[in-house]
Amino acid sequence: MSKVYDLIIIGAGPAGLAAALYAGRSRLDTLLIEKAADGGQISITDDVENYPGQNPEGESGPSLIARFSEQVNRFGAERISGNVSKVELQGNIKKVYVGKAETLYEAKTVILATGANPRKIGCPGEAEFTGKGVSYCATCDANFFEDFEVFVIGGGDSAVEEAMYLTNFARIVHLVHRRDELRAAKSIQERAFKNDKLDIIWNAVPERLEGEGLLNKIVLKDTKTGELKEYLADEEDGLLGCFVFIGNIPNSDLFKDQIDCDEAGYAITNENCESSLPGVYVAGDVRVKSLRQVVTAAADGAIAAMQVEKFLAENK
Ligand code: NAP
Repeated sequence: MSKVYDLIIIGAGPAGLAAALYAGRSRLDTLLIEKAADGGQISITDDVENYPGQNPEGESGPSLIARFSEQVNRFGAERISGNVSKVELQGNIKKVYVGKAETLYEAKTVILATGANPRKIGCPGEAEFTGKGVSYCATCDANFFEDFEVFVIGGGDSAVEEAMYLTNFARIVHLVHRRDELRAAKSIQERAFKNDKLDIIWNAVPERLEGEGLLNKIVLKDTKTGELKEYLADEEDGLLGCFVFIGNIPNSDLFKDQIDCDEAGYAITNENCESSLPGVYVAGDVRVKSLRQVVTAAADGAIAAMQVEKFLAENK
């Protein structure tokens, strides 16, 4: 008979890592499964400045998350790297299948901390030029655009912060926002308005992206007048950057037909991170909540792990 863990955590972003830390300290027999590098969204964030207790001068996402991981490792949760292909959450023993081989892992409880992924614009050319001018990660790709002209799509914290980061590389960064007011926090906006290399194009969205091999033309549509305007790459450059930061979509395909989710696919829980199934908890960006930040994801992880401990004590 295969081993039955107390807890399987799916996802090692801030929520999953915090859950693993609390579970480890509670001596729960825990397995943490992550398909890529630790950190999720935060691992592609250049600058975090609002996680309490972090380096107050600002800190990169990877640097912050490295300390999360180190702290988890200290308390002994078992870890595997792999893509969860299927889950069966009904019943007393939860089943989690990993990889193409569908290796089975079993546990009495599960914490789903699968996070969210970048939303796509959905305009013609976006898919074709991904990796050839279009990017969803400034930290990963900024250095390819040293002294080039770059567009950033979005008006939230991510778009504005990443646009500022990109001004360290690009010749000019145009921030393209669909309204005439940014959604980003006021403190972030203040810094953006002072940045000489940041130009804001208000009331515009990408209509289509074009090029021959590489992205070299962006057509923007004015959201008020419908007017189209073309931006062509400088001939010497032959390439434009287009970084997209227009929010996220939840990674809930694995389980959204097994637990209650809202229309957008976010898992519905109570404040104890309990899902609609006993023994199944949801933590972090993948659940319905009003604020998606590292601090709230980590808090969810802690709450979910403590609820798991209580559940196991009550269901021996
Ligand atoms: P967000 O806050 O949801 O902002 C998304 C932005 O993209 C909005 O400005 C939105 O416009 C725009 N947008 C959405 N769909 C669009 C479309 N189809 N076409 C064009 N524009 C579109 O997403 P986010 O900036 O990724 O942030 C996600 C969460 O992480 C937020 O809670 C944020 O506070 C947090 N975050 C925090 C930090 C930090 O504090 N350092 C850094 C990054 C992210 P509208 O404004 O018109 O809706």
